[in-house]
Amino acid sequence: MPIAFLGLGAIGTPMARHLARPEWGLRVWNRTAAKAAAFAAEHGVTHAATPADAARGASVVITCFPVSADVESLLDGPTGLLATMERGATLVDCTSGDPATSARIAAKLAERGIDFIDAPVSGGVVGAEKGALTVMIGGDAAVIAKVRPYLEAFGQKIVHCGAIGAGDAVKAVNNALLALHLWSTAEGLAALTKAGVDPAIALDVINTSSGRSNASMNLFPDRVLTRAFPRTFRLALLDKDVGIAAEVARQQKVPAPMLQLTADLFRASHIAMGEEADHVEVVKWVEQLTGVEIRPASH
Ligand code: NDP
Repeated sequence: MPIAFLGLGAIGTPMARHLARPEWGLRVWNRTAAKAAAFAAEHGVTHAATPADAARGASVVITCFPVSADVESLLDGPTGLLATMERGATLVDCTSGDPATSARIAAKLAERGIDFIDAPVSGGVVGAEKGALTVMIGGDAAVIAKVRPYLEAFGQKIVHCGAIGAGDAVKAVNNALLALHLWSTAEGLAALTKAGVDPAIALDVINTSSGRSNASMNLFPDRVLTRAFPRTFRLALLDKDVGIAAEVARQQKVPAPMLQLTADLFRASHIAMGEEADHVEVVKWVEQLTGVEIRPASH
């Protein structure tokens, strides 16, 4: 039976490349059809004209869109996934989604005997290219077992986090921590730079000390100090993730002032910097607020 991949964005494209094995009969669909056509031509797979065409007779349909609502919007109607997905098939949603919408999608699919797991990923575009992503999953263990070979094509670490929505919730909290580290590292380095400390030297200390994080160890040295700011993961998407984390805390009636503050800061930065800014470019926003550019003395 063929498989389908929908959503050839920054991370979806390198994920789908690992699924383009002749024996899996991959079909791809993307809203901007030219991207799917180019991918299909390059990898010798099938370009589907609609989500329904991609899903017809497929055992597994994998989606990777900005938000869960995008997945939900592709279910119904004559060109939607439910027009052709069959009983026993599985929808694997790799969107960094929200637990409530994932639960709604899962319930709708269950009425038709179609399985669902929320399976967001971490590891970024580089991890996706290497097939080394972490996949965090909400759903049934038997369903995960059924689709595991496909997850292992792009994922190195596959973790069952709990019931439907648990993958989304873990992903959102992880990314809220990324956001918090990005923002607070920028504040700290701005203060140190203004105090006359070279931020490269400060990072050298922090990165062998207890304040280190992925932001301090990788993002600041590779993307901020170099002023490269490559576009790999949109700030708009990180804003969405932190908002989901704050909402998970609110739903659970867990006081979470840091999550809420971070959500508000990233919402404001997203509004200020627009839809296409990269997440690390939030540092430029902190630089504007503080009036300090975080540049090493050598740069
Ligand atoms: P992009 O913005 O690069 O791509 C989004 C994809 O979704 C594109 O294929 C776009 O189509 C499609 N799309 C957007 N809106 C709709 C819609 N309403 N209907 C149908 N298709 C739509 O996002 P990413 O690939 O970066 O991210 C995808 C998901 O993965 C997000 O949830 C993100 O948070 C998560 N993620 C991203 C990572 C990264 O490093 N980029 C890392 C880990 C998770 P079109 O080509 O037409 O615009």
